Amino acid sequence: MHDLLIKDALFVTCDSNHKVVYDGIMAVSNGRITALESNKSNAGLQLQAHQTLSAKGRLVMPGLINMHCHAGDSLFRGLVEGLTLESWLGKVWVAEKATLTKHTTYLGSILGLAENLLAGVTTVMDMFWYPNETVRAANDLGMRLSTGGIFFDLPGIGDRVHVNYITEAEKFMAKHQESETIFSATLPHGSYTVSPKNLKDAKAISDRYGALFSTHAAETQAEQADISTRYGKSVIRHLHAHGLLGPKSILAHCVHVDTTEINMMADSGTIVAHNPMSNLKLGSGIAPVSQMLKSGIKMTLGTDGAISGNDLDMWLTMRLAASLPKGIMMRADVVTAKEVLHMATLNGAEALGQSKNLGSLEPGKAADFIVLDLSSIHAVPMFDPITHLVYSTSKSDVRDVFVDGKKVVSDGKATKVNMDQKLRNANALAPSIKASVE
Ligand SMILES: [Zn+2]
Repeated sequence: MHDLLIKDALFVTCDSNHKVVYDGIMAVSNGRITALESNKSNAGLQLQAHQTLSAKGRLVMPGLINMHCHAGDSLFRGLVEGLTLESWLGKVWVAEKATLTKHTTYLGSILGLAENLLAGVTTVMDMFWYPNETVRAANDLGMRLSTGGIFFDLPGIGDRVHVNYITEAEKFMAKHQESETIFSATLPHGSYTVSPKNLKDAKAISDRYGALFSTHAAETQAEQADISTRYGKSVIRHLHAHGLLGPKSILAHCVHVDTTEINMMADSGTIVAHNPMSNLKLGSGIAPVSQMLKSGIKMTLGTDGAISGNDLDMWLTMRLAASLPKGIMMRADVVTAKEVLHMATLNGAEALGQSKNLGSLEPGKAADFIVLDLSSIHAVPMFDPITHLVYSTSKSDVRDVFVDGKKVVSDGKATKVNMDQKLRNANALAPSIKASVE
């Protein structure tokens, strides 16, 4: 007897063959997908479940995986505008230092994570202060999260947030190492804000626990110039020289990378989290996605925080990731919709070391899936569901979201958290946030 059947839907599985099942039926038991077939081949499944949902006119696909976010920064959306990264960061850090406590970090995190979840993201990799508060927000909403200890050498909020980054990171790892919903990482901010010694200490902790390591890398030309002046090498060469590349290293951005650096990342199995919206809005540049894909680098996608890209929209991210390389290279055949859909699903799961569990709809995997409405004007007619998902779908098309077989979004609303009160709290905080940068 299955727990749940989703029937009559169009299933885009995002498996390695990009299998699509028209008029299909999916069975879920104990939070796992137990079967996914076309109705014709397995009509008897519906007789064996406690609950059956008809999804006629709906598309079902795996939950998206956002591989680079700062959910807590949702408190500061729209606060700092019209500046490039370095001057922008100066103001962001002032606002963060003046505002962030455990309480406000939880509030910002639940706003940012809920925005992700309502838009169909079931797993987020997040870098922020007070990571235990982000964990609490993810648990409350019922979603998966990869996060952990942050490292940051500059004076500022770090002076009071963490007495000792290493101790905090170790404690986080020890606490969550057995978790199936929290995937531990160390997340030093970047090579320009963290010394080589502290970067290596962060990586050593991750290695000790078999966990992940993620940092900002090669985001702007100014960063490249800074690292070259300080260490005589470009950012990726600097990370390489200190043994920080590898299959558990997730580098956010990689906008300014040359062929040698691309090969270094490919050869070491390093993962890239591409954040096109943030890179465009901060004037950072456009990452060479086509070249990185061609080299064999595992490419994933991220929104970055709401303070840089102003919304947390993985659909927009997919559309930009697929379209920008075509415009730059003046070729419509580079970076396919299938590649980009995998960047937002299966590749993210692989990057997190969760490819057996997440990233596609396949029997044996966790039942993390989203249900999209196909009745909107922009969905009719639909000749190819995969190009539709990458180029036409909006976050408002996401109606229901399931994590571990449990419905955490129902008809566009979070089921486990009343977000209205959180929005009132955020509005109440807004005047003091604004005053902090004036
Ligand atoms: Zn970032």
